[in-house]
Amino acid sequence: MARIVMKFGGTSVAGPERIRHVSRLVTAEVRAGHEVAVVVSAMSGETNRLVRLVDELAADIINSDRIVGGAVEDEYDSVVASGEQVTSGLLAIALRRRGVRARSWLGWQIPLKTDMAHSKARIAEIENSAIGPSLRSGQVPVVAGFQGVNERGRISTLGRGGSDTSAVALAIALKADRCDIYTDVDGVYTTDPRIVPEARRLNRIAFEEMLELASLGTKVLQTRSVELAMHNNLSVRVLTSMAEVDDVNPGTLVCHEDEAMEERVVSGVAYSRDEARITLLRLADRPGMVAKVCKAMSDANIIVDMIVQGISRSDTVSNLTFTIDKHDLEKALAVLESNRDEIGHESLKSDSNVSKVSVVGIGMRSHTGVAQTMFEALAARNINIEVIATSEIKISVLIDSEYTELAVRALHGAFGLEVT
Ligand code: ASP
Ligand code: MG
Repeated sequence: MARIVMKFGGTSVAGPERIRHVSRLVTAEVRAGHEVAVVVSAMSGETNRLVRLVDELAADIINSDRIVGGAVEDEYDSVVASGEQVTSGLLAIALRRRGVRARSWLGWQIPLKTDMAHSKARIAEIENSAIGPSLRSGQVPVVAGFQGVNERGRISTLGRGGSDTSAVALAIALKADRCDIYTDVDGVYTTDPRIVPEARRLNRIAFEEMLELASLGTKVLQTRSVELAMHNNLSVRVLTSMAEVDDVNPGTLVCHEDEAMEERVVSGVAYSRDEARITLLRLADRPGMVAKVCKAMSDANIIVDMIVQGISRSDTVSNLTFTIDKHDLEKALAVLESNRDEIGHESLKSDSNVSKVSVVGIGMRSHTGVAQTMFEALAARNINIEVIATSEIKISVLIDSEYTELAVRALHGAFGLEVT
């Protein structure tokens, strides 16, 4: 007998038929003799709908990436958390119809306690004094993901995609043997199969690789859930909920690198089109200039990603190029304009027709030549590289977005990722 947390995403519970199917998958684990706790998302599209409703009444005092004003943020959480209440109740009903003892649990009933940050709260603690005994008695708790309760007793939410984090945190609190995250894809792929049909499902991937891929726009798992799993060394399996009970459905195991090691240097190619590049021309070449620019950006809550600085022909000035999320471009340009005297750049260029393409793999730590293979593959397609950034397990390049697909295909082939 094992203790299992099964989590189902929005498409897996998109309507009564999907929910009925999920109840079959859960029942199969219960009948196999396991202790099962379930975490659900809202039906797909539902959270967006709820966010829009709040926006209609409060768009001027709330914005999606950062809530300002403070007057209604608690009610935003109260509204958008409601989608998960619906699916947890519905799934409990579907399970009872199969003769499985089940009940729904909302965040405050567990309670799943969070800090005070509304709309992006962090989990502080999960009490298992109520849910643990219920689980041991053979009842299946169906937990509403994405939501918790804060010190003041108000409902909080964990940020978009947060029910992955609910599931991982619950698995840790319950000391589960397994955390299975069911979604609409059958695992983590070497790249986006819509771009490269030969893309392959990975059997295993290391936490660090998954973190890089998640933050690079492969939205299979919420980044925070991977961090949490990594810090607690909890392996998480990503698999499809579309399979039948008896189907072979191995998914991808996200696990410690010692278990993930396969004979490969690069595990995946990721891309993001949500990039914008800003270049400040002829900045004074003296200490503190980059700090000033970065401070202006962080004061405006804008995340700076790739940064390069180059000395131009004269040695007293330099050019500074950096990238940000393209949705922040207007805000960033306004901030730079209002800090112009302080920063003192002569002029500025910006471009939002850029993409970031990255190769990721823990094997890079011990192998050389990855950068060379990457740059040669791009050069052979005549793709110009605008900015390069590296970490221990990743190389990213910024290119004209027109060549995104070409670059992804070229790199997937260059690293032989289609070969099993
Ligand atoms: N329903 C929430 C969202 O759409 C949480 C989740 O699905 O993980 O962001
Ligand atoms: Mg999700």
